[in-house]
Amino acid sequence: MMPGPTPPPSIEALLYHAQMQGVLPLTSCCNMQCIFCSNAYNPDNCEVFAIPPRPLAEIKDSILWLVGSRGPVVIGESVTRINEGEPLTHPEFLGILQLVRRHYPDRSIKVTTNASLFTADLIEQIAELNIELMVSLNTVGYRERVMGDKQPETTLRNVEALGGKVRFEGSIVSLPFVTGWEDIEATAKFLKDSGAWSIRILAPGFSRFHPLSKEAASITQDDIRSFSHNLEKDLKVPVLFEPARITSVIPVVEHVLPRSPARRAGIRPGDVITEVSGRPVLSRTEAFELVRDNERPRVAYDRQGAVYDAVINKQRFQPSGLVMYDDLDPKSWFEWERKSHVKRRRVLVLTSAPAKPVIEDALKMRGLEARVEAVPSVFFGGNIEAGGLLTVRDFAVAYGEIAGLDFDPDIVTLPKRAFDPWGRDLEGISYRVFEEITGKPVVFG
Ligand code: SF4
Repeated sequence: MMPGPTPPPSIEALLYHAQMQGVLPLTSCCNMQCIFCSNAYNPDNCEVFAIPPRPLAEIKDSILWLVGSRGPVVIGESVTRINEGEPLTHPEFLGILQLVRRHYPDRSIKVTTNASLFTADLIEQIAELNIELMVSLNTVGYRERVMGDKQPETTLRNVEALGGKVRFEGSIVSLPFVTGWEDIEATAKFLKDSGAWSIRILAPGFSRFHPLSKEAASITQDDIRSFSHNLEKDLKVPVLFEPARITSVIPVVEHVLPRSPARRAGIRPGDVITEVSGRPVLSRTEAFELVRDNERPRVAYDRQGAVYDAVINKQRFQPSGLVMYDDLDPKSWFEWERKSHVKRRRVLVLTSAPAKPVIEDALKMRGLEARVEAVPSVFFGGNIEAGGLLTVRDFAVAYGEIAGLDFDPDIVTLPKRAFDPWGRDLEGISYRVFEEITGKPVVFG
């Protein structure tokens, strides 16, 4: 039997941790009711928190916590244990954006929104503040059924009004078993015609508790991926599929946006970036972030075996126009190499199915050896695969099946993103419980 959870940290501690990662939680309130929203169907013992709209004064007092990250300031994304709602329901939304822009004049600020609450005036103001948007549109034809949108025409008009004023991407949680493929295609076309610079097609993630989990199982990620690929050819706009089934850390460029600094520098899709400002790069994430964070970075790249170089003429922290998938954070990787002593010890890496081939490739590139195993989700079940949603329970089951058969590790690596800063998983169970059950020390990676 699994020992019980340890007490949760305070909301303030969670907010501090979120902001140090560049995420600014505003509110868990939302004006929609999406049928795919995970907020409604988490298991009872899943530790996520809902917050009311945070007062402007509180955000002002904690604004400096955002210095913990050099990347964009992210608003409206549920990437921490705090449920994110619709940021535009916050009564002081504009005041908060103005405050963030004043403190961080150079940083990219990205807001995820369902776009239903925009007004012409607000669009003008966010254009002036140079805010980027991710518009979660999901459907044009089934808005009430899929999102509970009572005024679909208003939302669609708002999206059209963004075009030419605000830089935005569109996203679609693909539910072909609800809307049909035609609606996904029509939604992507609508986003493109409204001015979206790229479109993200997201595979739906349904736990076994969700009423749609059986229908979702009838569609594979490969079906959606190949549909997205065809969509990109038809629409001639970057269409990114998530989760991307990438199997290597090779820093390959997916797209280069028209009229962007990277396009002017001559970089093309398929080029492989090998160095940025004289520094060799290990992964896509490293290449992308170095280009983003530097002024006029000099980039060496490989095109079909020939090596070229070019200067991307841009300011520090400004977008280059390169579009690349996220794969491996180099800082975390090198920290893991050091802490796991992987050169001298037998290391077992327990991770998610999508991350397994990426980690194996990084090990190969670095000339290292470790055993890497994909862990299925028992706690959430359904088609959930993300590493951040794995729990101590899942790791213990997987370890029981692997260890002792043919591999006795000195140390086990668990994914850092599955734990909060206090080492507790989504059930509140500490990684130390895993150490007690298995008798093996844990290092995060
Ligand atoms: S708009 Fe976002 S937060 Fe609101 S219900 Fe939909 S998925 Fe959930």
